[in-house]
Amino acid sequence: METAAKQLQPWKGIINQYARYLPVSDATPVITLCEGNTPLIPATNFVEAIGGKFELYLKYEGLNPTCSFKDRGMTMAMTMAKERGAEVVICASTGNTSASAAAYATRANMKCVVLLPNGNIALGKLAQALLYGATTVAIEGNFDDALRIVIELGETGKVEVVNSINPARIEGQKTASFEICDQLGRAPDFHFLPVGNAGNITAYWKGFKEYYSVKKADRLPRLFGFQAAGAAPIVDGAPVAQPNTVATAIRIGNPASWQGANNALKESKGHIAKVTDAEILAAYKQIAQTDGVFVEPASAACLAGLIKCHQAGMIPEGSVITATMTGHGLKDPDNAIQNAGFEPTIVEASKEAVMKVIGL
Ligand SMILES: *Cc1c(COP(=O)(O)O)cnc(C)c1O
Repeated sequence: METAAKQLQPWKGIINQYARYLPVSDATPVITLCEGNTPLIPATNFVEAIGGKFELYLKYEGLNPTCSFKDRGMTMAMTMAKERGAEVVICASTGNTSASAAAYATRANMKCVVLLPNGNIALGKLAQALLYGATTVAIEGNFDDALRIVIELGETGKVEVVNSINPARIEGQKTASFEICDQLGRAPDFHFLPVGNAGNITAYWKGFKEYYSVKKADRLPRLFGFQAAGAAPIVDGAPVAQPNTVATAIRIGNPASWQGANNALKESKGHIAKVTDAEILAAYKQIAQTDGVFVEPASAACLAGLIKCHQAGMIPEGSVITATMTGHGLKDPDNAIQNAGFEPTIVEASKEAVMKVIGL
């Protein structure tokens, strides 16, 4: 079995691939679903459509095992929890963390409890948590309320918190920067990503710096982060009590890694700005219809940001830009159907009827 798998599948997940950069030893019981190794897709049509004179590559994290980048952090967090002998893991989530935690906990034979904001979770994500068998609790509150409760429960010492306040999450997530450099053969000039709880921007910056320090990358990119206008505490410089946006994955009013984001922005000479829901949805539709890349609305926030930065003349000609497409579009079918702008045309079952619809 092992030999056949080795030949068919050389990639065995991010811990195996990048062990020398991670806090693991030969004795560490690695919990993996073979996450990582996601494609870096050139978005040439999108760039042309917006009149850009730069290169754009999308790190399509929707192709991870539970369809978001959270799997990179979760393989590390669950591995560390297992190594410490934890039996119950818990997280607060806008959806993707819970999907990922539920899947990896199952794999590790651990019990998983997820706290979600009631009514504000995309359908696909809820389906995942339930089917993977997590104890799913819907809080009458928002993500920030759920995280506060999770932290209090963590302090009892009876459960292991696998939110990104757990440093193992950041360690795992930094491997996306390594992969980008390995795939591009260089570091990008700019890296764009959406910002919610700010763990990922913190992790990307850590990854780019570490790869640069071991000479695996030739430069350090500038990090450009984007928040939704209704949930933009870092941009506005103050927590948002009632965050609101169609991009539920970044519907967060008081980011746990706020400080990490500030460091990344300062050290990389980066930029953080907000985009409206209308801008997010326009970019969401555009990237699907120009380049065939279906992402969730939160992911598109950074493309909306790129359009604005380009229009403001902030992107020098010839720049190499990468952007994290944080989650798969199928996570949120409701938004896709509402915003597609088309509905299937219903006709009788004949060749003539179909030809009429397509204008032949
Ligand atoms: C978690 C998540 C984000 C936000 O990442 P943070 O690390 O919380 O800033 C963005 N998009 C998607 C799809 C996510 O799941």
